[in-house]
Amino acid sequence: MTARRTHIVGAGIAGLSAALATTEEGGEAVLYEAAPQAGGRCRTIRSANGFSHDNGTHVLLTANRNALSLLKSIGARDRWIEPERKGLPLYDLPTKVMHRVGLSPWSWLRPSRRPNGLGIADLLRLLRLAFPAQECSVASIIGDRPIMNSLIGPLTVAVLNTPPSTASARRLGCALRRLMWPRAGRLLVARNGLSEDLIQPAIETLQGRGVPLLAGQRLRNLLTNGERVIGLSLTDRTIALGPEDRVILALPPYEIERLLPAVPVPQRFEAILNVHFRLPGLDEPRFIGFTGGLTQWLLVRQDHVGVTISAADSAVLDSAADLAALVWREIAPTLGDLGLDASPDKQPEARVVKEKRATIRQDVTPLPQPPLRPLANLALAGDWIGSMPATIESAVISGTEAVAALLHTPLTGASASRHPALRREDAA
Ligand SMILES: Cc1cc2nc3c(=O)[nH]c(=O)nc-3n(C[C@H](O)[C@H](O)[C@H](O)COP(=O)(O)OP(=O)(O)OC[C@H]3O[C@@H](n4cnc5c(N)ncnc54)[C@H](O)[C@@H]3O)c2cc1C
Repeated sequence: MTARRTHIVGAGIAGLSAALATTEEGGEAVLYEAAPQAGGRCRTIRSANGFSHDNGTHVLLTANRNALSLLKSIGARDRWIEPERKGLPLYDLPTKVMHRVGLSPWSWLRPSRRPNGLGIADLLRLLRLAFPAQECSVASIIGDRPIMNSLIGPLTVAVLNTPPSTASARRLGCALRRLMWPRAGRLLVARNGLSEDLIQPAIETLQGRGVPLLAGQRLRNLLTNGERVIGLSLTDRTIALGPEDRVILALPPYEIERLLPAVPVPQRFEAILNVHFRLPGLDEPRFIGFTGGLTQWLLVRQDHVGVTISAADSAVLDSAADLAALVWREIAPTLGDLGLDASPDKQPEARVVKEKRATIRQDVTPLPQPPLRPLANLALAGDWIGSMPATIESAVISGTEAVAALLHTPLTGASASRHPALRREDAA
């Protein structure tokens, strides 16, 4: 009898999640990755002069149950820590006022964690946002109430990477409903970095289960017989598939479009910009939000600080040097308040990482949904699939759903047109 093997292309979070799910069921898996390392958009960048930092700060919320259960399954849950246990500090640059805010509505029972300007009328608006009757923009529900600046604006941009003026209320609603769960609003970051605290433990767990990672192998073409994938044409080899083999493409939408032109995929993306400064930081990480400037979030680590600017389509056009100088002037006083040696006139070594296609744009325009299984033995995974915000959580879910979709692969298949669209409905 031929062994049944799952060939997973793309070793980002979705591909790693699919490999973990396959092997948890006792199945065999192989991972193929175009880049020299796994991780995709979640990675640590190491440079020859020893300055290492993540491509961008990634946060998880305790509401992200699937991501947390993946961390548990790879023995890395303890590596993700909560830097701001007393509520998130939000610093307003124009007024120079710092305010703490809780992300969970339950935390607002304490006045010290209530978003600035929250009134009774806002609770009704927030309920409408959590359960929108129809698709509309986040701004059309919240309007110009103070909570737009003190909570909803920063949350929308962080979760959807899309400005509130156009961001989808339905997608943000998914996140808000999850934040209503008890203890769901704690914000976590990797203690040392994404590779050390997420990607490497996942790869080691998979190696322990006998899953090879073939890095530097880009999938050039899918070989099909019209109904099934029969081979994978990679950078330097062609893999012939056995009759029971399955394929999961855990790839960004533009790669799916190239490989499977008939499959509908989202076409529009938003950028995220990160600026990292090398300086002696703090033993325990700090995470601070900013409003009213370019800087949005600041993570202080032991040997550097990282600044995140989401929905950054216009900012990415500026030169790296100008961006670093502007951001440094904004954050230096706050770093000084934290006890760091940070003079506004003495900018340390900086790295600017521009991720132009950081996530799909999640606005009010309905996004195309691909078929569940475009070919009989092929399923799709990736953070962009389904109706949830495109984040680590949705990437993890998409990986396990792709495995489930292929569980009962028929030996002869049906074409894309005979499969229903993939509709991962929000379970909250
Ligand atoms: C700067 C930044 C900050 C972010 N912050 C957060 C955050 O705070 N919280 C959060 O939850 N999410 C955040 N995200 C989103 C998160 O990174 C993504 O949702 C997640 O990493 C997507 O994983 P994925 O596996 O779906 O896709 P990817 O990570 O894009 O993985 C796809 C993989 O496929 C590989 N590949 C592409 N083409 C081929 C091919 N032809 N053959 C073989 N391999 C191929 C790629 O190299 C890549 O490794 C952020 C993203 C960015 C860029």
